[in-house]
Amino acid sequence: MTLKKTNSPLSDDFLPFSRPSINAQDILAVNEVLTSGWITTGSKNAEFEKNMCEYTGSPYAVGLTSATAGMHLLLKALGIGKGDEVITPSMTWVSTVNLITLAGATPVFADVDKDTLMITKDSVENCLSKRVKLIIPVHFAGASVDMDPLKQLARDHKIKIIEDAAHALGSSYKGVPTGAFGTSVFSFHPIKNITTGEGGMICSDDSELIQRIQRLKFHGLGVDSFDRNTQGRLPQAQVIEPGFKYNLPDMLAALGISQLKRIAVFNKKREALARLYLELLKDVDQIIPLAPPPEEAGHSWHLFIVRLDIEKAAMTRGQFMEELKKNNIGTGLHFRAVHLQKYYRDTLDIPPGALVNTEWNSKRILSLPLFPDMTEKDVHRVVNTIKKVLKK
Ligand SMILES: *Cc1c(COP(=O)(O)O)cnc(C)c1O
Repeated sequence: MTLKKTNSPLSDDFLPFSRPSINAQDILAVNEVLTSGWITTGSKNAEFEKNMCEYTGSPYAVGLTSATAGMHLLLKALGIGKGDEVITPSMTWVSTVNLITLAGATPVFADVDKDTLMITKDSVENCLSKRVKLIIPVHFAGASVDMDPLKQLARDHKIKIIEDAAHALGSSYKGVPTGAFGTSVFSFHPIKNITTGEGGMICSDDSELIQRIQRLKFHGLGVDSFDRNTQGRLPQAQVIEPGFKYNLPDMLAALGISQLKRIAVFNKKREALARLYLELLKDVDQIIPLAPPPEEAGHSWHLFIVRLDIEKAAMTRGQFMEELKKNNIGTGLHFRAVHLQKYYRDTLDIPPGALVNTEWNSKRILSLPLFPDMTEKDVHRVVNTIKKVLKK
């Protein structure tokens, strides 16, 4: 089904780097909630949580307004604060680092592998100190971090891990779906593999942690889950500790339920398009894709990221993106390294060159269009345009 675009400022020819796939079932599902008399958190959220547990293999899940909200609650629940250090990549979305900083703790950046953009056991080991309480690895672009050595390192040093799985719904590691073990945070922002408009989910096998999250996500009230008889929470619920307001409303959860039914189809489509890109880009010298994932790895192909060889191309990444835009091709930037952004340049004393691979990539990286409703023809168009722009 093609939906009429009503509020897009872009021309019909413009190919964005991402677009959510919304079909008639999605719309019906949201409509049903809107006319039901109960639109905030209730039975749809509970059903979405249950479906996410089934899909990932995680025993518990909590629906939230965003992955950022999930990260906030987890830092709070783990007691991360002043004097603590948290290891994470600088090649990530700013939300994690902002929250570490707002919690009063110090982010410590582990460098990433040059061609996977992910932290490794070795790079994390270089950052260890007595103050490190937590590691937040990011499963980048849909591939999985090499978790086993990292988990061993964390166990040896009694450090906790939270997996940033915002890119990784549908990916797996050694045959096990991301989210099945430990604690992971997923995002349902419109560019992610499924969307609820805005939304997120914590999946965890830690029942105590989940109880705490249930409380903290809704004012700190001491009634854990949705009560089918009263629809919402019991009116006599009491504040056990001050909490936040991060519950996922049913009108969004309904969209999530409907979208999750198509995750396998979405990711298969993403993979086919990504493989075509890899094939067609083989003879474009100035474009360097990320390292291909190992054969057995389940990749969710959240983003199709390449690096522009700025020396060979004789133009900056910014100029390249601008040229593509002039030719009606949208691109994204995932991500400008966090430590190179103004606030963190000013407040963290990280000498230039300390994060060699992160900085190399931060200058050259861009995301080409990749979303399930794209066609093979679109991929050919992107690659042909890239060739044209680079020839100029
Ligand atoms: C999108 C994203 C987030 C944040 O997700 P929200 O749901 O927008 O809060 C966190 N980390 C990474 C790596 C992301 O790409």
